[in-house]
Amino acid sequence: MSGSPAVVMRLVASAYAVAEKAGTIVRKVLHSGELGIVEKTGANDLQTLADRLAQQSICASLSKRFPKITIIGEEDLPSEEIQEDLIETGQSEEILQRSCPPEYSQLKEEEIVVWVDPIDGTKEYTEASRCLHFQAVAQAPHKGLDTPQPHSTALWLLDNVTVLIGIAHGGRAIAGVINQPFYNYKLGAGTQLGRTMWGMLGLGAFGFQLQEVPGDRRIVTTTRSHSNKLVTDCVDAMEPHEVVRVGGAGNKIIQLVEGKASAYVFASPGCKKWDTCAPEAILHAVGGKLTDMHGNAYRYDANVKHMNSAGVLATLRNHEYYVSRVPQSVLQALKSD
Ligand code: AMP
Ligand code: MG
Ligand code: MG
Repeated sequence: MSGSPAVVMRLVASAYAVAEKAGTIVRKVLHSGELGIVEKTGANDLQTLADRLAQQSICASLSKRFPKITIIGEEDLPSEEIQEDLIETGQSEEILQRSCPPEYSQLKEEEIVVWVDPIDGTKEYTEASRCLHFQAVAQAPHKGLDTPQPHSTALWLLDNVTVLIGIAHGGRAIAGVINQPFYNYKLGAGTQLGRTMWGMLGLGAFGFQLQEVPGDRRIVTTTRSHSNKLVTDCVDAMEPHEVVRVGGAGNKIIQLVEGKASAYVFASPGCKKWDTCAPEAILHAVGGKLTDMHGNAYRYDANVKHMNSAGVLATLRNHEYYVSRVPQSVLQALKSD
């Protein structure tokens, strides 16, 4: 490589380190047990202290280094002075060493839009915290509270939690970073927690082993906490051999690229641009596809509507099959932008 790295490579390298820092914050708040939960639009739309701190950390760190990029974060937060210890200045050396795909080598900061979901799967994060708290209470039963839930429930829920940083140019998701803060949780004490996956169009995706669902099995992954009749009708119309209900848009894309599911089907509004930008970039970097239920692409320009009103349909392979199975009732209810 000659000369200094392209702006977009420096941005992805920083986003990698920043997502890891956010993952650390997410773990720390869980272990403190003080989640500071706020209901946004309702009980299934929550914000915690970890969402607030992680977003502050991500946005302040990236805008300090890249002052001209547009950064759009999920959480509506008052603009206030950010604690110095929330600022991450590191970069992934491995990413800096890579050659930028020629089509992105001249991108300017002011042309780039970054979509930030500080915690994707906040609902599951709060449920996991409750399980862990119940467990702690079970070990000290004189303190009362409810019946403890099995520990394995909490472990499973923590896998649903991700930090998402998506990078867009010209309305397209071109690169993305996903940190999964509790990856390896099952292995117990002494193991390094968390992992970071990243991808870029023209380069590929890294930090995981790409796998496909074996054979012709149709395994559909969908929401576990935001379901409705349209969602279940659409899942049924895919004639799945198996349905995997897990939380988080990031986590569902991980299911696709690690061979655990063949399609992510969510025939409902609810997902936003910050939920899909990073996952879409990683999925597209390995030849997959994310669209609305009509098979139309979403755009990620700075001025787009945040809501993905026409649902989310994502696959690693055979996208056309799944689009062709979407029922008329869904197509009529969910109009493309
Ligand atoms: P899920 O698959 O239900 O975990 O949703 C994936 C992402 O979309 C998460 O960030 C959710 O918060 C968001 N989402 C989906 N449906 C809704 C909804 N009805 N209200 C609020 N957020 C939603
Ligand atoms: Mg989200
Ligand atoms: Mg979120």
